[in-house]
Amino acid sequence: MTGEDGEYYGLRPNGSEFPIEMDLERLAFRDSLTGLGNRAFFDRELEDALEGPTTGPIHVLLLDLDDYEEVNDILGRQAGDALVIGASRRLLDRVAPNDTVARLGSDEFAVLLTGDMDADDVAARIVRALSAPFRLEGKEFQPSVSLGLATTGDQQLPASDLLRRAGIAIYVAKAAGKSRFVRFRPDMMSELVARNELESGLRYAVERREIVVHYQPIVSVEAGGATQVEALVRWRHAESLIPPLDFIAAAETSGLINAIGREILTLTCAQLHDWLAGDNLRSVAVNISAVQLREPNFARDVLHILASAGVDPSQLILEVTESAFPDPALRVIDQLSQLRSHGIRVSLDDFGTGYSSLGRLQELPVDIIKVDRSFVDGIRTGGETLPILNSVVELAHNLGLHVTAEGVETAAQALHLRRLGCDSMQGFYFGRPAAAEFLADVEWHATDAYQKLTPTPH
Ligand code: C2E
Ligand code: CA
Ligand code: CA
Repeated sequence: MTGEDGEYYGLRPNGSEFPIEMDLERLAFRDSLTGLGNRAFFDRELEDALEGPTTGPIHVLLLDLDDYEEVNDILGRQAGDALVIGASRRLLDRVAPNDTVARLGSDEFAVLLTGDMDADDVAARIVRALSAPFRLEGKEFQPSVSLGLATTGDQQLPASDLLRRAGIAIYVAKAAGKSRFVRFRPDMMSELVARNELESGLRYAVERREIVVHYQPIVSVEAGGATQVEALVRWRHAESLIPPLDFIAAAETSGLINAIGREILTLTCAQLHDWLAGDNLRSVAVNISAVQLREPNFARDVLHILASAGVDPSQLILEVTESAFPDPALRVIDQLSQLRSHGIRVSLDDFGTGYSSLGRLQELPVDIIKVDRSFVDGIRTGGETLPILNSVVELAHNLGLHVTAEGVETAAQALHLRRLGCDSMQGFYFGRPAAAEFLADVEWHATDAYQKLTPTPH
C-alpha cells in the first residue's frame, strides 16, 4: 500500500503499518541468521571509513571458521547454524560497540576497526575467544578459527586492496595451522605465488607418475631384526626429490592428498607385494593424513586397493596422528574401526607431541603407539632415567598396545629403549629410507645393526 507521502508501507499482523523501504534496507544489508551486517554492509562501511576524514589507520580483520563444513556434514545444518551464531556473539563481545562486524558468507566474518588501537591485540583476543569450546548437539566441540589482518599504512589503499591483503593473510594463517591470526606482509605475495606454483605442479603429480615412495626399516625386539618398513613419500619434481614436509601441507589444504594418498598406498602395495607375501610376519606402515580420514570412502578405498594388489590386510598398519581425532570425529573413529575389523592395525604417530593425553589412549581405536623422536633425543648415554617414557611404555602395555620408538640414531639409544620395554625401533641407526629396489639391503642392514647391539655395563 502507498501512504500519503508516496512511501510504500506494509501491514503487520496486528494491523499497524511499517515503512517497507526500511525493511528492504534491512534485508539488503543484514544477515538473517546472525543479525550482523552482510557483505554489502561491510563494503559500504569500509568505503565510508576510507573516504571519511582520516583519524588514524583502518584495520580489516577477516575470519574463517575452520571446521564449519565438517560440523555441517557430520552434525547437520542446525549445528552449523548454532556454531555461526555462537561465533558471531563471541565476536560482538570482543569489539567496541561502534566497531563494524559483518558476516560475509557461510563461515566468513569481517571486522572493521578504525583509529589508533592495537589491532594485533584485538585479533589475538578474537582468535582466543572463538577457539574456546562450544557445546553443539550436547557434545563439547573445540572450534578453530583463522584470522587475517591488514591495515592502511601511510599511503591510502582502495578497499579492494585492503580486503585482498587481509585475504592473503588469512590464507597464510590457514596454511600455518589452525587457530591463529596473521598480519599481512608484502613478502606474502611472493610466497603465495610460489605456493600456487607448487600446488599447480602437485595437481599433476599422480598422473605424471612423480610420486615416489621410500621405505625405512623398523626392527622388532621379539623377532630380533627388521620385519616392518614405513612407507615415506617423496615428490620427484623439477629434477629434485621434494621431501614430504615441503608439500604434504599444500596437498592437504588443496584436498589433493586424497588422490596422492591412494597413489602412495597403491605403489606401496605393488612394490612390497612379494616381500610381504614372503613372510606373513612382515608388515608395512603407511602414513595417513587427517584429511584422508574424513573422506567418507576412505575405508572402502583402502580395502579395495589391498584386495586389488593381493595384500593381506593384517600386514598393513596405518599411521595417524592424534590431530586426526577432533571431538566430533565419529566418522574417523568409525572408518578406523571398520578397517581394524578387517585386521588392519592403527598406529598413533608422533605420540607425546601436541595435545596427546595418556587418558585418551583407552578410547581411541589404536593398536600401536609410536613414541615421538623428541623422547628418544633425550637419551644421550643410556644412563638417564626417563620417567615419562617409562610410564608411557608401561601404560601402553597395560592397555595391550605395542610401542614403537622412532628417531633412534645411536646404539646407546637403541639399548636403552629396549631396556625400557619398547617393542620396535626405527631410526637412522638401523637405516635411512630407501627406494624399493634396495629393500633387501635395507632389511639386512637393519637386522645386522640390531644384532650387533651389545649392552655395556654402566
Ligand atoms: P613421520 O611419520 O614422523 O616420519 C618419520 C620421519 O623421520 C621421516 O622423515 C624419516 O626420514 C625421519 N627419520 C627417520 N629416522 C630418523 C632418525 O633417526 N633421525 C631423524 N632426525 N629423522 C629420522 P620424512 O620422510 O621427511 O617424513 C616427514 C614426515 O612427512 C613424516 O613424519 C610424515 O608426517 C610425513 N609423511 C611422510 N610420508 C607421508 C605419506 O606417505 N603420507 C602422509 N600423509 N604424510 C607423510
Ligand atoms: Ca609416520
Ligand atoms: Ca612420527
